[in-house]
Amino acid sequence: MIFMDNAAGSWPKPAQVRRAVANSFQNYGANPGRGAYRLSLDTARMVYDVRSRLTELVGGEDPERLIFTSGATTAANLALKGWLRPGDHVIYSGMEHNAIYRPLKQLEDKGLISTDCIEADADGYIDPDDFAAAIRDETRLLVCLHASNVTGSVQPVAGVGKLSKKTGIPLLVDAAQSAGALPINCREMGISFLVLAGHKALYGPPGIGALYAAPGLEPEPLISGGTGSHSHQWQQPPEWPERHESGTINVPGIAGLGGSLDFLRDAGPEWLLEFELELAGKFAEGASLIPGIRLYLPQDERPRAPLVSLNLNKMDPGEAAFLLDRDYGIAVRSGLHCTPLAHQAIGSFPTGTVRFSFGYFNTLREVKTVLFALNKLSHKY
Ligand code: PMP
Repeated sequence: MIFMDNAAGSWPKPAQVRRAVANSFQNYGANPGRGAYRLSLDTARMVYDVRSRLTELVGGEDPERLIFTSGATTAANLALKGWLRPGDHVIYSGMEHNAIYRPLKQLEDKGLISTDCIEADADGYIDPDDFAAAIRDETRLLVCLHASNVTGSVQPVAGVGKLSKKTGIPLLVDAAQSAGALPINCREMGISFLVLAGHKALYGPPGIGALYAAPGLEPEPLISGGTGSHSHQWQQPPEWPERHESGTINVPGIAGLGGSLDFLRDAGPEWLLEFELELAGKFAEGASLIPGIRLYLPQDERPRAPLVSLNLNKMDPGEAAFLLDRDYGIAVRSGLHCTPLAHQAIGSFPTGTVRFSFGYFNTLREVKTVLFALNKLSHKY
């Protein structure tokens, strides 16, 4: 099988991740923060170590402000529903994934908040100046995706971050696709809330993600309950991360994320990005020569993540993905990729695109095989 759906969840997982997860069952089997015995303390130490290293990777100030979640969707809900209050206004980019768009629309449908969408251009990029123009007195949050899961377009987040620093309106960034692949520095880029997924470019296991919140921001906890601390009080404790991590946390997932950080360190993030972009570039170059293929790529040199969306003649993207799998053993994602807004921007709504997303385990040889298959398909239909 040729796996080119790394934007949905990278596969296979690196040896460092597999080892770390397996090791967690043996050496970190206890519930952290719930016992004073060695196994529990060792587990708590491992969790703290991964928390610190992940905070460092994204240029956060304080590891205690990094909360582990089940993924980017939970992190986004936690930030949006915890931070926003009745009457607030939110400005969001027209490239947001449903992980952001749906909770915002849910709050808006209830009459709690109002929103403005900053439309992206036909290549899937937004202009930070459009955010500035949309600010009102009630604006309490700016939301800007980092890398698009549909076009790969990397948004000028630092530009929106500058506006956030100038106005004091916090900026939430969805880095589900970019964390691990692209450099992120919350302090330098002016990011207030960072939403992370562990299972994509971080190469970690599914079911683990994180939310980083800059010091000073106090969203209400979305979930309350047992934290292993202050148990005599009925109120949720004020200390982070416990305040937002009620219940037993995903220890094997966190251990696996620790393995991901080892993997990234060993591979070298700059090299990894260069390699993945080279695969995406060679793929796009080859695909552009196949008759009937429409690529959704900018003609200029704006920054991109290693994925390519396309359509093949008038073939439905779902059918193309089905045939690639059935006839050639090629795994890719088709349709709207949970991001209808982006397809509206690039003109592929409502049928969507076929998406090829590249990772460490892909090879140039695989790229050639996939181009061969696409060429065959394009002549058949
Ligand atoms: N945001 C973006 C840009 C994504 O691509 C995804 C996953 N498709 C998500 C959020 C949701 O991530 P998770 O599955 O970790 O909740």
